[in-house]
Order: sequence, then structure tokens, then C-alpha cells
Amino acid sequence: MSIYPWLAPALAQFTNRRAALPHALLLSAQAGLGLESLAEFALASILCTQPLAQAACGQCRSCQMRINQTHPDFYRISPEAGKVSIGIDAIRAVSESLSKTPQAGGYQLAVVEPAHAMTVAAANALLKTLEEPTSQTVILLVSENPGKLLPTILSRCQRIHVHRPEANAAAAWLTSAVSGSNEREQRAALALAGGSPLLAKQLIDAGETQALSNLQAQLRTIESAASTNLLSIGKAWQQNAPDFVRLYVFDLLQTMRQLAQSGAGPILNGLKLQHQKANLINELIGTGVRIDLAIVDLLQLHQALFRTSDR
Ligand SMILES: [Zn+2]
Repeated sequence: MSIYPWLAPALAQFTNRRAALPHALLLSAQAGLGLESLAEFALASILCTQPLAQAACGQCRSCQMRINQTHPDFYRISPEAGKVSIGIDAIRAVSESLSKTPQAGGYQLAVVEPAHAMTVAAANALLKTLEEPTSQTVILLVSENPGKLLPTILSRCQRIHVHRPEANAAAAWLTSAVSGSNEREQRAALALAGGSPLLAKQLIDAGETQALSNLQAQLRTIESAASTNLLSIGKAWQQNAPDFVRLYVFDLLQTMRQLAQSGAGPILNGLKLQHQKANLINELIGTGVRIDLAIVDLLQLHQALFRTSDR
């Protein structure tokens, strides 16, 4: 199990609470921070009857049963295959089981992952269980979107939140995790990934940052030169139109942030319209409309905006 360096503070918070576990514990983080490895560490520790420095020993009978997936007091609640939400029946069934005496002599544990996938009815059913805690029972909620949880659920949970690493720490981890990428590429990937190192790594692995720097080079040329072959750019991107839109919008938002700081009002309004137009291209895909021409149209307006501005 890999525990990433930025998980350390959350891990320390968990080990501090391990001796006196709350009835309900919420583990949260934004996407791409490896929350699932923190959850696996925590659930293994909770089920272990002889934890070493609060980590699962891996040896005791309870650990063995967890590893063999035969632990009688451990329940995982996730959306069924092909579904995105957790329904009330799944929660009711587990609540019923949790009301019985544990069989293995340790904690009874239910992990709800992702917790924000619960329907309102399911969340309300879980609330009943949270309001009538039985000793030796722990409910572990795991969510990368905790803002979608009912306030009544949140108020019943103790919470451990994984914070994004500082930019320098994230870049240092990326350097060690991705061989052959340069600093500029890493910075672009981190920005594109909203500061999440794991997501940034995926973007670099997928060649996304290369595509971004290609597009940015094209855009800077378009902005500075009156004559650019827009149609050839449109044709080059038409097969990867969703990539084009995502990367174009990313570049646009970066430009808008810079312009907002320097107070360039009129061009900002134009760029907001470009943002909407770019997203419309996604809706045109598969409709028979020529995507290359839609991209050319967008780029023409882009060029006009920057030529009429005094940027
Ligand atoms: Zn153990």
C-alpha cells in the first residue's frame, strides 16, 4: 500500500484517534490525492485486533480474514456495478447487520465509499444508524466530494481532511514519480490538475501536457500574427475536439486570471464568451456539423479579440 507524503498529516490524525475511535469518521480529499490508500490503511487498522503503532499487523486472525475477504464484521458499501448511486436497501441491510453482536471480537466496520453517492433516502437511513450508536461499531465514510453530503450526516461525523500538498512539495514528488519530464511540463500538469500530484502524473503519462504546450504555441502565434493558417489548425484538432476544448478552456482561464489582475475589462468579457463558445463545440461533436470549421470560427474570434485589444 503506497502512502503518499502529503497523506502524512491526515495519517497522524487518524493514528491519534485510533485508540478511541469515533462512531462515524469521514475521510475526505479533493480527487487525485490518493484518498483510497488512506481509507485502506484506516480500515485495516480498525479491523486489526493487535495494531502495531496503529497500523494493521497483517498477522492476527482478524487481519487474515480481512485479507481473505472473509471478515464477518466488515461491510463495504459502494454503488452496484453499472450504477452511480448507493440506494437505501444497501444501507438498510448493513444497518441491520451492524445492530447484531460482532462475531470476530473486534470492531464492526462499515465503509461507505464514495459516501456522496448515497441517495437522500440512503443518507437518511444511515442517519438513523448514526443516531443510535452501538459500541464497537465504526462507520467510515470516504468522499472526494464531501460538499454533497447532507449537513445532518456531516454534523454526526468526526472528519479527517487530506490537504493538497504545497506546490513545491507536489513538484518534488512529481520529479521523483515521472522520469523524463521537465519542470515546465510538471508545472503545467499541476495547474491543469488543480494541484493534485497524482492527477498531474496521469496527465503527463497521457501526453496531455505535451498537447497543451502545442496548443499554447499555436494560440500565441495566432495572437501575434495577422496571417495564420487557421484551417490547418482546425483540421489538426478536429479528431481530438474534446481535448482541444479542455486545453483551450484551460489556457483561456489562465489568461483571464492574468488579465483580471491587470484590470483589462473589455477583453475579459470577450474571453468569457469564448469560454461558452468552446464548450458548445463539445455539443456539436457527432451532430454532423464540421468540427474543424467550428474550431476555425473560435480561433478567428480569438485572434480578433487579441488584435483589437492593447494587450
Ligand atoms: Zn492484525
